[in-house]
Amino acid sequence: MLTFPDFTLISAKAECPACSKNFNTSLVSGSSPATADTRIETDLHRVYSCSAFRAAAIGLCMECGYSWWLKSFVLKTFFCPDQELQAPTLSSSSEDMRRFATAYLCGKQHKANHLELALVAMNAEWCAQDAGMEDQRWLNIAREELTKALRNPSARIDRGFYHYLLGEMCRRQDDFKGALANFDKARAGARLPEELILRQRVQARSGDASKTLLPVYLIESLFCPAYLQV
Ligand SMILES: [Zn+2]
Repeated sequence: MLTFPDFTLISAKAECPACSKNFNTSLVSGSSPATADTRIETDLHRVYSCSAFRAAAIGLCMECGYSWWLKSFVLKTFFCPDQELQAPTLSSSSEDMRRFATAYLCGKQHKANHLELALVAMNAEWCAQDAGMEDQRWLNIAREELTKALRNPSARIDRGFYHYLLGEMCRRQDDFKGALANFDKARAGARLPEELILRQRVQARSGDASKTLLPVYLIESLFCPAYLQV
């Protein structure tokens, strides 16, 4: 077990869906709940203390090189003797980023849809941020894939929510016109408070492309329901 201030990694054995071989991998066994002090950015992603949290969400078979979300692999953690599990090891940030690159390429090869590919790219960008690395390349890919996903009229996706995320990607890349157009299409509702959309419209209008942490009152209303009961 590897313990970090905000999450814990354990070992797991997984079966590759491509070649059926078993391999050892790391698995997040739990993360600390968000509090008012948690760093959450305006694109609604939490900043973790290291890149291992997001990298552990990607499975990578060392036998055949297949890679995709670990949840799509068969996990055998609870069915194999302890001695067969190696202690989890901490990979380097660049290895974590390579893991996402492999998953993205495998997703393309296996014709994953644009939203799935956008989610891989978004998590890769957030993983880079957790590692303290700037990665505009992943932001470009995420924006491109999400734009394609939203262009498909038959795709059943939460358009209001994803237009908001796309608006944030545009804002971060100095495309303030694109940001405002997407915020116009974002819908307030159960997942997005109207004040969040209005706040990001103001930031885009003022030409501010910086990474921005959510203010405490929005973290509390979006991620800490316990506060509402006090
Ligand atoms: Zn395999």
